[in-house]
Amino acid sequence: MNRPRAACLIGWPAAHSRSPLIHHYWLRKLDIAGGYSIEAVPPEEFADFVWRLSVRGFVGANITIPHKERALALSVPDARARAVGAANTLWVADGELRSTNTDVEGFINNLDACAAGWDNAEEALVLGAGGAARAVLFGLIERGVKRVVVANRTAERAHALAELFGASVHPIAWGDIGDALPRAKLMVHTTSLGMHGQPALDIDVGRLPPDAVVADLVYVPLETPLLAAAKARGLRTADGLGMLLHQAVRGFELWFGERPQVTSELRALVEADLTKT
Ligand code: NAP
Repeated sequence: MNRPRAACLIGWPAAHSRSPLIHHYWLRKLDIAGGYSIEAVPPEEFADFVWRLSVRGFVGANITIPHKERALALSVPDARARAVGAANTLWVADGELRSTNTDVEGFINNLDACAAGWDNAEEALVLGAGGAARAVLFGLIERGVKRVVVANRTAERAHALAELFGASVHPIAWGDIGDALPRAKLMVHTTSLGMHGQPALDIDVGRLPPDAVVADLVYVPLETPLLAAAKARGLRTADGLGMLLHQAVRGFELWFGERPQVTSELRALVEADLTKT
């Protein structure tokens, strides 16, 4: 008899994560006998753990802090994982450990779901230059956005992204964001500002074009001050929880063989969990 398929989230320490909630919901909905567990694996045991994923009974894994760069190095990454410089999803295919970074499609598919037509934007403004910004840049460029302006508090990191992603990326100083707002048909916020316990992002959404789309990757709180201000101005928005849910789709499909849906029922389930903690 075949063993039920199982995947896991590997991190250290084993942080509280919404991934089990999401994958268990889909397993139930699709009537698949499978499992998804959290595995606390210290850095010194990580390589051995992923090399023996199949032996341990797993068809794949999500990877979180602090293992994402290591996961990239230990696997055969696709172009997305390479460009982001980190792998968050592993699976075994033809005896090979493969990896991708699903933040790219999580971001893009959520934008498509929330703000169809966003890709008519000739210019996008991305705030931040960390790991999440890399995934956003890869997705925007792959989708054909011609010009992406990047502002980051530490200017060198924005310049490094221009080096990495090429001529469509234009770094500007953090203090010059105001001047870039009137041209930004799409604005994406990827810093940790606006998260619970952090100061809000201080920009005037009134300077964005009237048909601009605003995306915020922060999902605690669900509605950040930035998203609240954008909605009050009647702008279309895409939130961080939507991206989190959409990024989980590919892993599930790779491990369990069916493509799951991001439904309002799933969103409500995860929202309730987020507001509880
Ligand atoms: P990261 O690699 O540590 O980058 C953090 C970014 O925030 C950097 O650009 C940093 O600028 C900037 N920053 C931090 N404090 C700042 C401040 N006080 N003022 C201005 N800029 C500041 O983190 P990350 O992985 O990119 O994650 C960034 C955010 O995205 C987090 O809130 C994370 O939860 C969220 N995220 C959400 C999803 C999702 O699925 N919704 C996925 C990935 C990430 P410097 O370079 O100057 O330090």
